[in-house]
Amino acid sequence: MTDSLQNGLVPSLSINADRLWHTLMEMAKVGPGVAGGSCRLALTDEDKAGRDLFSRWCLEAGYTLSVDQVGNLFARRAGQDDSLPPVVMGSHLDTQPTGGRFDGIFGVLAGLEVLRSLDDHGIVTRHPLELTVWMNEEGSRFSPPMMGSGVVAGVFTVQEILDQIAQDGARLGDELVRHGYNGTRSATDHPMAAYLEAHIEQGPVLEVENRQIGVVTGAQGQRWFEVTVTGREAHAGPTPMRLRCDALVVASRMVQAIHDIGMTTPGDACTTVGILDVRPHSRNVIPGEVFFTVDLRHPDNGTLTAMEAAFRQQIGDLAAAAGATVSISEFWNFPTTPFDPVLVGRVRDSATRRGYSHRDIVSGAGHDAVYIARKVPTAMVFIPCEGGISHNEIENISPDQAARGASVLFDVLLATAGR
Ligand SMILES: [Zn+2]
Repeated sequence: MTDSLQNGLVPSLSINADRLWHTLMEMAKVGPGVAGGSCRLALTDEDKAGRDLFSRWCLEAGYTLSVDQVGNLFARRAGQDDSLPPVVMGSHLDTQPTGGRFDGIFGVLAGLEVLRSLDDHGIVTRHPLELTVWMNEEGSRFSPPMMGSGVVAGVFTVQEILDQIAQDGARLGDELVRHGYNGTRSATDHPMAAYLEAHIEQGPVLEVENRQIGVVTGAQGQRWFEVTVTGREAHAGPTPMRLRCDALVVASRMVQAIHDIGMTTPGDACTTVGILDVRPHSRNVIPGEVFFTVDLRHPDNGTLTAMEAAFRQQIGDLAAAAGATVSISEFWNFPTTPFDPVLVGRVRDSATRRGYSHRDIVSGAGHDAVYIARKVPTAMVFIPCEGGISHNEIENISPDQAARGASVLFDVLLATAGR
């Protein structure tokens, strides 16, 4: 018995690459953007039209549809033992205002292609299967992002999500009613045997390294901070250099130190200062106060803790050396999310067996899978996207890239749901 068979994998079966691409292009016609992308903000009429098209495809194929209390949409394909919890695939159909045709959409429609391919091959899996369209992944019209999967994971309550107000003033629960996607299925009690999500990478690593599949081992931990440096505001002319306490000069040393922590920490560390406010923001006043934001990321919690300790220590030392004061407050803390090793192994084995070049990769972005992984064994499959560009209408993939990602999803689903 080979390693891959021991891991539950069965010989490769093919998906229909042309049908997958055609389906992606049909969905892209719904809510077209102005520059070749898509605009289907969550729970707008365009988003409803996208969900309606997906629902029609699923009903035509004979799958059963259901909607939960927060508008997550599920297409179910019966299994041999329908009392077992379903193996679930999914992603999202909503987009950013100037979104691409593939972010989220690829995962949903690759899942649909997997179900259709099972139909083609006449395979009934042991577990039932479900394909999910998560409600409001992007968080653009209604904030925060990943709402639907967040409720399932217990991060948000049903009621607080239904009461969210959009930028345009609409209440989320009312929009669900208006579109008929106000379901009755429990959003908080939803047994799943496993969750699988295919997605475009949304970064450049796979393309730069010429790899066809990203084996996603988990998601980075993120810690966000707000820092305020207080120096001494004074006139830019009469105050000699040696008698100044310039908050911006101190802050700029801190920005460099934070950058260096990211550069010198091994293993995919990221450190970013993204916002910097200088006060009083006048060209002939020595800055008295500087506010800036810090975003620290790493796939390992222990390393992330060490990065935070180094950041706090160095910021404190730099302030003290300059006679300035500094305050640091934590804004957000998102722990690292390792995916299920068995499922991740199946992704790797499938790519190997099909002869696709691949590498292990950690997700730098948030995905529905990152929330679902808190409750259910989870894995993700990444495919490259052109130039690593996403959240942009020019976002692009090739039909071959789509087919490879769907093929791996197919293998992992079959190995997990059983025959
Ligand atoms: Zn996405």
